[in-house]
Amino acid sequence: MKSEDLFSEARGLMPGGVSSPVRAIKPYPFYTAKALGSHITTVDGADLIDCCMAYGPLLLGHAHPEIKKVIAAQLEKGWLYGTPTPYEPEFARLITGDHPGMDMVRFVSSGSEATMAAIRLARGFTGKSDIIKIEGGFHGAHDAVLVKAGSGATTMGVPDSAGVLPALVAHTRQLPYNDVEALEATLASHHDIAALIIEPVLGNIGPVLPEDHYLREIREITSAYGVLLIFDEVITGYRLGIGGAQKMFGVRPDITTLGKIIGGGLPIGAFCGRKEIMSLVAPQGPVYQAGTFSGNPLSLAAGIATIRYLHDHPGIYPDLAEKARAIRESIGSGAGGSFVQLGSMFKYFFRPAAPKNYTEVKECDTTAFGRFREKMLARGIFLPPSQFETNFLSTAHTADDLATIAGGYTACL
Ligand code: PLP
Repeated sequence: MKSEDLFSEARGLMPGGVSSPVRAIKPYPFYTAKALGSHITTVDGADLIDCCMAYGPLLLGHAHPEIKKVIAAQLEKGWLYGTPTPYEPEFARLITGDHPGMDMVRFVSSGSEATMAAIRLARGFTGKSDIIKIEGGFHGAHDAVLVKAGSGATTMGVPDSAGVLPALVAHTRQLPYNDVEALEATLASHHDIAALIIEPVLGNIGPVLPEDHYLREIREITSAYGVLLIFDEVITGYRLGIGGAQKMFGVRPDITTLGKIIGGGLPIGAFCGRKEIMSLVAPQGPVYQAGTFSGNPLSLAAGIATIRYLHDHPGIYPDLAEKARAIRESIGSGAGGSFVQLGSMFKYFFRPAAPKNYTEVKECDTTAFGRFREKMLARGIFLPPSQFETNFLSTAHTADDLATIAGGYTACL
């Protein structure tokens, strides 16, 4: 069946025809038959260069041979035990070693689970009720973080989804990114804040980059007010480098959430933090958290293989950054928008200056982006289907791919 027919059938069987909203590309999404390296083959026979990489996890590309080997070997031994496995301490040692100050880890099955548990843990540790999130930050699809953007720090949060009780988001305040004063003012006047949860680099509307010292200053302010700092590194963890954004910007949070890349392409999440905080997690402490698929051997085997591969190939990160920079340079500044890039994360914003926060991102011309994305797709380049999603490169992208992508920007902007 062709994509159009598959979507037509799926729409009657699945809400919006998809398993996750962003995939509902208009008029219908392409359906993937297979994906290898940097390319996706659709059921319609199209061959596409993938600049989405499953929204971030596939740093090494699709079906990387070494990861595939590890997954295949694990399949022979079973893929779900419901018991501890030797992979767990091995992976926990790797992750804690790569993130100084993160002493203990709990493995879960998705980034959403990780942030949900991290927020509960922050409340359990501090005994305080409220959290602050950053406008435009995305931390998964659970109630506490589904708050309407712009609802403001001084007012109570307003649900961004039907079915979320106002009472559940009343304890979530929102602040603009890159605004130290707003944070300081909020913490000075509200003494019920348990944690600030933040994507250190905004990946879900970005990349939107932190201004000089922003992350360092929010670290100082949260420490001064006894508020835990949660870095949601579900995207940036192992994407910006080993040690993620916290290493890149030299800032140590109290709790870190991870996901995406640490599963090597299989479902995973993790949260980690200082021992005194993590000791509160059940069964060691009173903050409950549990999951049937947590620490499953398949995801852990793929994740360990991925992280070990990254350790063994330190040139990967500078190479990836160079690839993204080459795209940037080929575009130049003629097209009137702004190209933002950090490592292998990049995006062309349809707005003259690089946005500093969510309000500025919303000023982008989404209609122009839509037209551009369609033209790129017609040339065989798959960009994430929203002006608000980051584009990702992988180690599998070849010089030919990059030339095609750069040529696409030149021709389609
Ligand atoms: N946190 C961030 C920064 C994310 O980008 C995402 C997903 O895109 C999540 C959390 C949720 O992760 P998952 O989709 O694995 O539940």
